[in-house]
Amino acid sequence: MCGIVAYLGRREATPILTEGLKRLEYRGYDSSGLAVIRDGQLVIRRAVGRISALEARLDDAVRGATIGMAHTRWATHGGPTECNAHPHRDASGKVALVHNGIIENYRVLRTFLEQEGLALESETDTEVLAKLVGHFYTGDLADAVRRALREVRGTFGIAVLHADDPDQIVAARRGSPLIVGVVGKDEYIIASDAAAIVQHTPQVIYLADNEVAVVTRTGFRTTNLDAAPVDKEVEEVEFTLEQLELGGHQHFMSKEIFEQPEALRTCMRGRIDLHEGRVVLGGLAGVMRELVRCERVLLTGCGTAWHACLVGEYLIEDMARIPCEVEYASEFRYRNPLILDRTVVIAISQSGETADTLAALREAKDKGALALGVVNAVGSTIARETDAGVYLHVGPEIGVASTKAFVGQVTVLSLIAALLGRRRHMSPAACSEYLTALHNIPAAIERALELSSQTRKIAAEFIDTNNWLYLGRGLQYPIALEGALKLKEISYIHAEGLPAAEMKHGPIALISPGMPVVVIAVRDHLYDKVVSNIEEVRSRGGHVIAVATAGDEQIRELAEEVLYVPDVPEPLAPLVTVVPLQLLAYHAAVLRGCDVDKPRNLAKSVTVE
Ligand code: GLU
Repeated sequence: MCGIVAYLGRREATPILTEGLKRLEYRGYDSSGLAVIRDGQLVIRRAVGRISALEARLDDAVRGATIGMAHTRWATHGGPTECNAHPHRDASGKVALVHNGIIENYRVLRTFLEQEGLALESETDTEVLAKLVGHFYTGDLADAVRRALREVRGTFGIAVLHADDPDQIVAARRGSPLIVGVVGKDEYIIASDAAAIVQHTPQVIYLADNEVAVVTRTGFRTTNLDAAPVDKEVEEVEFTLEQLELGGHQHFMSKEIFEQPEALRTCMRGRIDLHEGRVVLGGLAGVMRELVRCERVLLTGCGTAWHACLVGEYLIEDMARIPCEVEYASEFRYRNPLILDRTVVIAISQSGETADTLAALREAKDKGALALGVVNAVGSTIARETDAGVYLHVGPEIGVASTKAFVGQVTVLSLIAALLGRRRHMSPAACSEYLTALHNIPAAIERALELSSQTRKIAAEFIDTNNWLYLGRGLQYPIALEGALKLKEISYIHAEGLPAAEMKHGPIALISPGMPVVVIAVRDHLYDKVVSNIEEVRSRGGHVIAVATAGDEQIRELAEEVLYVPDVPEPLAPLVTVVPLQLLAYHAAVLRGCDVDKPRNLAKSVTVE
């Protein structure tokens, strides 16, 4: 959940670490800390708040070191205080450790350490691990780390230093991502996310669960927890530093909203054969026979990815005629799900590291399902653990509130639906027509982006309103959920998304005069029904903000505001209607002075339960 960055080489460590932390800050940001080894001493600085607070504490004592590590925390155990901030130390004060994840059996270990006479200073689970490494240390840090990790239940990505050994960093992972960037034989940068590595090198090693890496000034080695050597391949990361920069936008979120057309073009490149009416998804080639013969599809994800799953369910059932269900990954793993023969599970996660989604995937795989992944981050854990999958290829998403990854997920699910449909019932002509429409979606999104200033005006009008409703039917119901979630996430306004027809079964009681109600009322087969729902809202004084199809004059008479989006075929309309809702949430957050890219309490990739 948090971020880790560690450096060993010839250059000064501190600037590299703080720069790396800033690139990781979107992952968690309640406190941060840094440790370097200088003149045989560990020097640790920690601070509550943003990285800038830590930087203010970096004095001469941390300068000049060529080895160090840093951490930005998203608290799970213990509040965001300086004492709980990482790095944590062992009893001798010579071992320092940063940790990403949760040590589940930390209470038992804490009792053990207390019985050994060791006092703990913080409330974190992490400090227990630091103390345990110190407890096992007899001169070989990697050995002590391995012994400690064998006692631990839970998840971790860690980096560990020992003051007596200024020439080595020990790193390990289980359940939390950790990557070793190889700058040269004597220079390494270890991080929990490639974003902190790419400016130094594209050459990386992805650690797998229960692997330990030891980097030194003469090379690196990797082992498992029993010290048996493991051979790792050095791979190349795909994205560039420019993709991570703001590119003239005030926030990553607006940059990512506006790059959606281009992102989808990249996502679809080489995957649509208009001439033959075919979808080409190379990542699924190896499992194609099994996939085509499947009898049930289970889509799973969390948050925005779960909304993408809901859209996918409509598309797969409609186009491929395969029974499809959507499950919250966080729930799926804890019941005893029924996986019958010929079930395909598709796990959806932007980061490919979402702990709940990963666990759901493993559960389904264990029960014999064909496991597919739809992820954005190349080389991520979900991508590695699935039997096959499709990358989004929308570029790195930095803003915590997901936007371009959502449209990427829906696009990939549309492609999968067409692929399966074509292999089962769809004619080449029908598929070709559908793919042509999909191919034109980026241009339609470009036009929808022109709604930015209108959404800004609407957001300004309701800036002090604390309750919103979002209504949609059919394929637009998930978009109503997504619109409401965006508003909640970044502007802290309470919003509820509902299937429009469900409103009258309860939530209609909430409507009071002037309450903003966003209704997605595009010209689809449910249009007339939605219009009736708009009337119901109007009769109770609600202020209707409609998202409608360009040219629809009727809606103008019913709604106080109309956001016109281009006319696109019904199955693809969610890709366009979501855009004004993203913009509305973005402007509301900016106008309310919220920290758009780093909303409170949230982190980008949820790698804890
Ligand atoms: N569980 C640890 C803590 O609360 C690490 C949290 C994180 O991943 O940032 O300190």
